[in-house]
Amino acid sequence: MNRAESIDRLRRKDPWDLLIIGGGATGAGCAVDAASRGYRTALIEAHDFGKGTSSRSTKLIHGGVRYLEQGDIPLVMEALKERGILRENAPHLVTDLAFVVPNYEWWEAPFYGIGLRLYDLLAGKYGFGKSRNLNKEETLERLPALKQDGLRGGVIYYDGQFDDARLLIHLALTAEQQGATLVNYCPAIALITGAGGMIAGAVARDSESGEEYEIRAGAVINATGCFSDAVRRMTDAGAASMIAPSQGAHLVFDGSFLRGDSAILVPHTTDGRVMFAIPWHGHALVGTTDTAIEDVSAEPAPMEQEIEFILETAGRYLSRAPRREDVLSAWAGIRPLVKAGSGGGTASLSRSHSVHIDTNGLVTIAGGKWTTYRHMAEDCVGQAAVLAGLEERECVTRQLRIHRYESPADGIQAEVARAVRMEMARTVEDVLARRTRMLFLNARAAMEMAPRVAELMASELGRGAGWRSAQVDEFRALAARYSAFAG
Ligand SMILES: Cc1cc2nc3c(=O)[nH]c(=O)nc-3n(C[C@H](O)[C@H](O)[C@H](O)COP(=O)(O)OP(=O)(O)OC[C@H]3O[C@@H](n4cnc5c(N)ncnc54)[C@H](O)[C@@H]3O)c2cc1C
Repeated sequence: MNRAESIDRLRRKDPWDLLIIGGGATGAGCAVDAASRGYRTALIEAHDFGKGTSSRSTKLIHGGVRYLEQGDIPLVMEALKERGILRENAPHLVTDLAFVVPNYEWWEAPFYGIGLRLYDLLAGKYGFGKSRNLNKEETLERLPALKQDGLRGGVIYYDGQFDDARLLIHLALTAEQQGATLVNYCPAIALITGAGGMIAGAVARDSESGEEYEIRAGAVINATGCFSDAVRRMTDAGAASMIAPSQGAHLVFDGSFLRGDSAILVPHTTDGRVMFAIPWHGHALVGTTDTAIEDVSAEPAPMEQEIEFILETAGRYLSRAPRREDVLSAWAGIRPLVKAGSGGGTASLSRSHSVHIDTNGLVTIAGGKWTTYRHMAEDCVGQAAVLAGLEERECVTRQLRIHRYESPADGIQAEVARAVRMEMARTVEDVLARRTRMLFLNARAAMEMAPRVAELMASELGRGAGWRSAQVDEFRALAARYSAFAG
């Protein structure tokens, strides 16, 4: 992806069939779907691709054991099917992961054993592997770092794991391969109203040059996650909010806190949720929480009580309880949940997606999960195409392979070159937070790498010393927030 060429196309090709605002999983999924149906498709992202929630997930491609407990069988079945489709289309990006539910009470083995067999059954031909009960020795073989006091055994089951920011970049590359034009650092700052008061495009501002463009399209898809209501209010200041934002935090520790290749699922935390401890890029990733919030931000920070809660829960299951000073990186994301209209906490709100069309024709897609992005896009693009009066074309993404590199880059110099030349990385943060995951794994180590990355990027992008030092300062200020919770 070349940014200058993409901006050129954005300027010239007018009008587009579909304009997508937002470059997270939902927007990128819509771009893949629309372009592969043959629609002329443009996507603009305010920051970097995946800057929002889509780089801050628990990194599971899963049916959602928790939704099974809640009795939301249709959602579990949809997600299990999408899990299987994604593994088929992106075997280089989705891997199988074994999860163990440790049992400390006599009733847990039969209870979770039966529940997880139902999970296998619902997956049908999309299954990842059969669940089964483990005795104490087998459980400890899988999870040597588990607390042994009172341990009776466990239940093992299988789900998928991925690197969210990496899959996102591959979706953006796939969309471009299919003919879409995607640009980062280019927020929509206003919507354009056409004949009959219908939305006919958006005004975008290139954050790098300050230039503004009018982008016209048959229909506009608002895929801005927790910012969906802000975009809807660009033309309708009184639009009732449809998003109930909910924050989830994660803590990352050294891999020695969770030895072995299996993950732990804590099926019932003290606040009635599930919690995961997962091996991820050689580290232990623990989370998450579900905290209803009022204000949304592109860089949400974990709250004090979220940190305490995760540490406390991890300490109840791990033989070596992690402490604050063991936190290598702490970060949070915001779920763009769709309001149900009734009361109750955000944990009980459905994770199903919703396509909402305002009376001015703006199409908003929100909710859902990373796992279901393909199905969400199929649904949304189908509706947007009808609204725009486009020729009806079948969705083809069920069998569409996700972009694959010939040879993976090795070493930081090669990573930076690839990120800048092929993946539209523009800042040190893009490289250290999303093209590699250093910031999310170890914030202090990422800070130390910033000057070298800035130097390599400056030579790739033709920038001077002023840009380099400003980039390093900005990145260090950001990374300080990710490491602020360490002791
Ligand atoms: C803590 C947590 C854990 C999760 N774990 C999982 C998991 O393990 N598995 C799973 O399947 N799902 C998981 N999810 C859900 C999943 O991450 C989200 O459903 C998904 O990432 C939402 O993607 P999105 O594209 O809708 O939103 P986002 O990723 O937030 O994308 C919206 C984008 O719109 C951009 N934007 C905003 N305003 C504008 C504008 N004016 N112009 C242009 N662009 C704009 C933003 O910069 C942002 O990049 C998790 C969610 C959270 C919060």
